[in-house]
Amino acid sequence: MNPPLSRVVIAGGGSAGWMAAAALSQALSGTGIAITLVESEEIGTVGVGEATIPPIHGFNQMIGVDETEFVKATRGTFKLGIEFVDWWRRGHRYFHPFGRYGDDFGLVPFHQQWLAARAEGDSAPLGAYSLSTLAAMNGRFGLPQGGGNSVYATYGYAYHFDAGLYAAYLRQRSVARGVVRHEGRIAVVHLDESIGHVTALQLEDGRRIAGDLFLDCTGFRGLLIGEVMGVPYQDWSHWLPANRAVAVPTAAAGPPTPYTRSIARDAGWQWRIPLQHRIGNGHVFCDGFTSDAAAEALLLDNLDAAPIGEPRHLRFTTGRRETPWAGNVIAVGLSSGFLEPLESTSLHLIQSAITLLLQWFPDRGFDPGVRAEYNRLAAREWDTIRDFLILHYIATERDETPFWRHCRAITPPDSLAEKIAMFARNGRLLAREGDLFMDSSWLAVLMGQGVVPQGHDSLAAGIPPNHRRKILTAMRTVIAETAAGLPPHGKTVEQLYSAGQG
Ligand SMILES: Cc1cc2nc3c(=O)[nH]c(=O)nc-3n(C[C@H](O)[C@H](O)[C@H](O)COP(=O)(O)OP(=O)(O)OC[C@H]3O[C@@H](n4cnc5c(N)ncnc54)[C@H](O)[C@@H]3O)c2cc1C
Repeated sequence: MNPPLSRVVIAGGGSAGWMAAAALSQALSGTGIAITLVESEEIGTVGVGEATIPPIHGFNQMIGVDETEFVKATRGTFKLGIEFVDWWRRGHRYFHPFGRYGDDFGLVPFHQQWLAARAEGDSAPLGAYSLSTLAAMNGRFGLPQGGGNSVYATYGYAYHFDAGLYAAYLRQRSVARGVVRHEGRIAVVHLDESIGHVTALQLEDGRRIAGDLFLDCTGFRGLLIGEVMGVPYQDWSHWLPANRAVAVPTAAAGPPTPYTRSIARDAGWQWRIPLQHRIGNGHVFCDGFTSDAAAEALLLDNLDAAPIGEPRHLRFTTGRRETPWAGNVIAVGLSSGFLEPLESTSLHLIQSAITLLLQWFPDRGFDPGVRAEYNRLAAREWDTIRDFLILHYIATERDETPFWRHCRAITPPDSLAEKIAMFARNGRLLAREGDLFMDSSWLAVLMGQGVVPQGHDSLAAGIPPNHRRKILTAMRTVIAETAAGLPPHGKTVEQLYSAGQG
């Protein structure tokens, strides 16, 4: 048996570095493994990344976070999903809710019964069967009440939060749990050429931090995984052409909406993320179709309130490292790749990388089989999210600008083409191993972007139309009544925020 590791070194202290430090300091406690983190205030962090998806509850549980404390510390709000405006066509909007639609009828999925009812003339929209959608559209949010059999079993939520406060919160927790932090710029990365393993990071002032396992959380630069280990980057720009963003905060204007808004623009899209104390805004675009100056002007012209900071420009290339784990280096966060924030998946991918690492934690033998399995599982998740994002761009009727004409002409990966074709025929949803987004998410975006099935599952005919209508009406009634009984989102946030305040 190989001896266990004794030193884990985390290079970088953005959200990725501090999420890793928080999780490892919890999970490795009692093992004697020392955790060190190096960050450079001079270099700074990317400073965005403020909308999340429901699996974040699992991460918070893993690190032992109390929800009230967390929302207070990060000036957070609640997120029930994303409203997509003008994506399918101008003037159209749809909601991608967290949680799911309705209840399955035995073995027949709920949406097949809904499609059957539509074919019989029932005009109730899909959103009428989603508690998260109804609550969001009415500006309501309450924490789930009731167990697995209640309507809350179909409800899902996540958070919006201030990225800077989030990193500070995780840092304070991690340091309290024994993580040693070094401030300084990494100047040299020492490598044992004979085995291709990193041995130490040397800071500009000469300090040397030795380790057994290194997490590369250095952001887009990928100092260890790219520059030292030479792991190639798979460029996905031919599928997801956006490569720039400009972000600017505005003051909070009225009560926060319990959802993110994404508005399609001529050469990309604009986000709006409401926090307690401000609104995060940004414009993601492709530099082949607009300029930085025009993109910034468009953002500034489309804000709810005056900016309270300078616009920040960011550049990226969508894609991922071929293997996030090479030798004794594991890339976590932006160093491992980037998928634009359309479905708020980057922080989740950090969480996933950390969870996978804990499941496949190495010893000094660094078993190549463990590394290969980690890389296979990580790639699988990235690839399924990639497909989900591409769907938003290619299933559109927009053709009035060169950008949208370009998107419409994109040839999707076979995996996505098959999924769309199958759904368009009979509403069936092909599930893929590792799919982060469940059927209800695919359904929301496929229907929302105008992919309407020609038919439905023939087994839905096993229920007589009258009976089906009755069941569907009852579902809608319970959901509508529950949504109407939820408190306004602003009130829930306020109550939580003031909970326990002196
Ligand atoms: C426009 C945009 C919008 C986004 N929106 C969302 C969103 O809504 N939801 C979401 O989940 N994600 C979003 N993301 C992604 C999210 O911001 C990142 O996944 C997250 O912040 C993690 O970044 P990071 O820690 O990997 O990198 P960074 O924040 O860049 O941190 C890198 C760290 O490495 C350190 N470092 C680098 N080089 C050195 C060196 N030589 N020496 C010492 N230290 C060094 C830096 O000081 C810093 O501490 C968005 C990203 C972009 C670009």
